Amino acid sequence: MVLRAATLWSDGRLLEGAAVAVEDGKVTGVFGRDSEGDLASEVVSGSRAGKVGLEGMTEADGWAVVDLGPRSLLPGLIDCHVHTVFPGDGSVLHDALGVADSELLLRAAENGRRALRAGVTTVVDVGAPPQVIFPLVRAVEEGVLHSARIIPAGPPVTITGGHCWPMGGEADSKEDVVTLVRRTMRDGAALIKVMGTGGGTPGTNSFLPVYPQETLEAIVAEARRLGRRTLIHSGATLATRSAVRAGFDVIFHGHFHRGDGSLVYDRGVVAEMIEAGTHLNPTLWVNRVVREVAEREAREGVSGAQKRSEIQRAKYRGQTENVSRMLEAGVSMLMGSDSGWGHVDFSEGLIREMECFSELGSADGDLLRLATRGAAEFLEREDLGVIFPGAAADILGVCGKPWEGISDLRKTDFVMTRGEIFTTPVGMLGV
Ligand SMILES: [Zn+2]
Repeated sequence: MVLRAATLWSDGRLLEGAAVAVEDGKVTGVFGRDSEGDLASEVVSGSRAGKVGLEGMTEADGWAVVDLGPRSLLPGLIDCHVHTVFPGDGSVLHDALGVADSELLLRAAENGRRALRAGVTTVVDVGAPPQVIFPLVRAVEEGVLHSARIIPAGPPVTITGGHCWPMGGEADSKEDVVTLVRRTMRDGAALIKVMGTGGGTPGTNSFLPVYPQETLEAIVAEARRLGRRTLIHSGATLATRSAVRAGFDVIFHGHFHRGDGSLVYDRGVVAEMIEAGTHLNPTLWVNRVVREVAEREAREGVSGAQKRSEIQRAKYRGQTENVSRMLEAGVSMLMGSDSGWGHVDFSEGLIREMECFSELGSADGDLLRLATRGAAEFLEREDLGVIFPGAAADILGVCGKPWEGISDLRKTDFVMTRGEIFTTPVGMLGV
């Protein structure tokens, strides 16, 4: 198959009059004119595209030619923080998980489809029961379902009764966490997720660390033995500091809460993050949407909503001030929406997250790179996040230029994943 479009964007590089050859689920040729007007022609040697070149890729030669007209081609987006088993409709954890595994599986499959429809061709699932997520991942890999590719962390490692404990990852002692990490990797986890503080689970405390430093170090050491990245949920400054020192690759949320719940930026911890190369996924939208829901309820006259919206406004302001300072200081960011959690729906979670960053002043091109090549580099997946010979054919067609205005991602009306067309613009059905 050959995709043609006015423009192609990949990892910050632009080509005009673009054509992309796709064979067996992979990109085998990329053609177009670069910003200097020079002809670019990159192919996988030995592929059909490599043998015939662009001139030989016509319908007469047996190629399916899909002309996307004025659209831009982009690599599929990657969301590094989702929970496919959650509905993203504001449900609380126990309601969301208090159903049969078969229901969770169906919901997760539907979320994978919604993500794909929004142009998110890969998601990193950072918290789900193992008996649900691992079979789902296998089904997607086998092509049984139309879904975003799922890279799973399995059940998060959490203390007994800790954040997300119903997912099945409870472990307390150093020995027990190591056993759990081994079991989770055996079952198929590509990364290891840990709950470093409490969170939205009733009976947990978001402001205090739950594991001692040496336990965190044991988790990281065990995960690294098999080359797995480590991710940690933290709502507390002390937990973030321990995690950075233990060598975790990513801090999720990373709010600078002190034990009393006050939010106080910690320059020392930020310096340690930069020194260690720790990434931050601040999950802006999952916090902001709470504010927006409260504001809507206040407008509708729901009792108590006015006060709640004021509290949430102040909270979000505090969080974004801290994230802005971290951006300025040079902390590496990871793009992830927390889709499924709270009110974050898979059909727009990642775009909303990028729009929140855009409001803080991040450049559109940088955001697009974070959600494509940047995420793929973090995941050590050279085949993802780019349109380049040899990469997976995860390709979007967008009516706009998201590298100049990130909200143009909402105009994605063509989605290809692993070389198969999932969404086609109206009028092109039957391609
Ligand atoms: Zn999460």
